[in-house]
Amino acid sequence: MDFLRPGDWREALALRAERPGALPIAGGTDVMVEINHGGRRPEALLDLSGITELHAVEREPADGGTPGAPAGRVRLGAAVPYTRVVAELGAELPGLALAARTVGSPQIRNRGSVGGNLGAASPAGDCHPALLASGAEVEAVSVRGTRHIPVDDFYLGVKRNALAPDELIRSVRVPRATGPQQFSKVGPRNAMVIAVCAVAVALHPGRGGVRVGIGSAAPTPVRAREAEEHIAGVLADGDLWERRDPIPPAAARRFAELVAAACSPIDDVRGTAAYRRHAVAVMARRTLGWCWEAHRAGASGPRPEGGAPCA
Ligand SMILES: Cc1cc2nc3c(=O)[nH]c(=O)nc-3n(C[C@H](O)[C@H](O)[C@H](O)COP(=O)(O)OP(=O)(O)OC[C@H]3O[C@@H](n4cnc5c(N)ncnc54)[C@H](O)[C@@H]3O)c2cc1C
Repeated sequence: MDFLRPGDWREALALRAERPGALPIAGGTDVMVEINHGGRRPEALLDLSGITELHAVEREPADGGTPGAPAGRVRLGAAVPYTRVVAELGAELPGLALAARTVGSPQIRNRGSVGGNLGAASPAGDCHPALLASGAEVEAVSVRGTRHIPVDDFYLGVKRNALAPDELIRSVRVPRATGPQQFSKVGPRNAMVIAVCAVAVALHPGRGGVRVGIGSAAPTPVRAREAEEHIAGVLADGDLWERRDPIPPAAARRFAELVAAACSPIDDVRGTAAYRRHAVAVMARRTLGWCWEAHRAGASGPRPEGGAPCA
């Protein structure tokens, strides 16, 4: 097996175009498991770990200060490890930082990256619900040019994404939080688990929006659009964004039902479809509740205990 080690981004793109059979490797926490235990034998590995651009965290400015306009974005290099997402981005990207906290063990979080999670496109990847809830965009680059793919369009099937064979992920652009965000995950135990199911909720008070991402409960990570519309309508009709009154319990229950209805889970060794639907509904109600309490209190960050996985 060849080991290709480009010295810079331009060379990485050229090698990607010349050697479509070379498998990109960043932290290697998925790739090496596949090679060691899954019997995968790519003709070559394309090592991206030394490419400076992929380790950069950059800030893009806000959009002119218009009310309701995006508060700017964080351009997160594809190979930035989870440890840095947790340490550096908790205030700007609280949902993603909470999800990153739950990934694997410290060793996995030191190596594993958001770009690798997107590249693997497992329905159980923990970044996906938070990226869906935030409205992120994947920057896919090849020698032919750059595409910006909304994360909603990125997941095509089980472990299939929208990258062309000659493309690499340069970054994921994530809007800075303008309101509270939460993430919750069910797994058998911390440190070594993939999610049985997961839910992320983000409030976008400036435009009266709520976005929900669900993981590990359908062939791809999915949004819960009907639930989003339902709860946004309830918040608008009752002028609740301004009044900051509690969400009526019946409306929160309906929200949870609609989030569960957006899933199409399967029975597998990690859980039954019925259990997943139930757990997703519970997590949806809880994450919405935590977000709403933070909004009522005027806070945008994670709850103090940090959105730990709920079992
Ligand atoms: C013990 C253990 C526990 C784990 N726990 C979790 C968990 O709790 N939650 C979770 O979500 N995941 C978990 N994982 C899976 C893994 O850590 C994550 O998916 C991680 O995000 C992968 O990142 P990486 O940089 O290591 O990717 P790699 O293994 O290097 O690559 C993963 C895939 O992405 C592709 N790729 C990488 N970078 C790019 C790029 N820039 N452009 C295009 N394609 C690219 C690779 O070709 C490969 O297909 C776990 C893995 C292990 C071994």
